[in-house]
Amino acid sequence: MNENVFKIVFILAIGIFVFTFLMMFSPKLRNKMMKRELKATKNMFQSLTDDLKDLQSTSIKIKKEILDENKDDLESIEKQEASIKGEGIKIKANALKSGLTGDMYCKNCGEKIPGDSIYCKNCGAKQ
Ligand SMILES: [Zn+2]
Repeated sequence: MNENVFKIVFILAIGIFVFTFLMMFSPKLRNKMMKRELKATKNMFQSLTDDLKDLQSTSIKIKKEILDENKDDLESIEKQEASIKGEGIKIKANALKSGLTGDMYCKNCGEKIPGDSIYCKNCGAKQ
């Protein structure tokens, strides 16, 4: 048992030694090994690029699916937003109109009174 382990380690050591020796003195073998390594690296990058492309197209597909599935909800939200904006514009337009006609609102009761009033015609509060 112990002897077998020793044998394996010994053979491995000799193998590494022979390999190192060949690499040091044989440019041909060295080139071959480097070429193989370059090729492996190139393949790795290629597969990484493919994965990335795959991921991108999948993500686009999922986004599209989600949009399609929730089309009705999105449309209704859009319509609600538009109507809220419309209301806002109406309120602004009214405020602008009353500003232009010189009207104001009583600080006490909120009644619409002429802009030059000193006292409210509704509650009598001083403006
Ligand atoms: Zn008032």
